[in-house]
Amino acid sequence: MPNHTARDKVRYEIRVHSAPTPIIKYEVIPLELRVLHPPQAQAIRFLAGLAAKYDKQVLNSRPWVCWNCPARAVGLVHTPASYMHNPEPLIIDIVQPVCANGGACDAAARKMMAEEMNF
Ligand SMILES: [Zn+2]
Repeated sequence: MPNHTARDKVRYEIRVHSAPTPIIKYEVIPLELRVLHPPQAQAIRFLAGLAAKYDKQVLNSRPWVCWNCPARAVGLVHTPASYMHNPEPLIIDIVQPVCANGGACDAAARKMMAEEMNF
């Protein structure tokens, strides 16, 4: 069985569109989020904090191409799905590289994820 340390950590899986393998990080997770329906504002803050923490590192790890057009990506759109109440907590962050923050491909990425995922 997982030891105490494992239970207090969440596996944060960053899946970049077009990347062959996910980037895996382990982060300490607040106990109050380890429930089926965590306080929403706090959960969103935690997820946004994780995305912000690794955003530049992921963006700079290779020359990404926009998910929606042939242009070089300059930003990332994060769409995290969380399973923090699991015995081994998991967050899957679907990341779409976009050619312009706030541009058409950015908007298309957000629209697609909003349609495909339910929280
Ligand atoms: Zn684009």
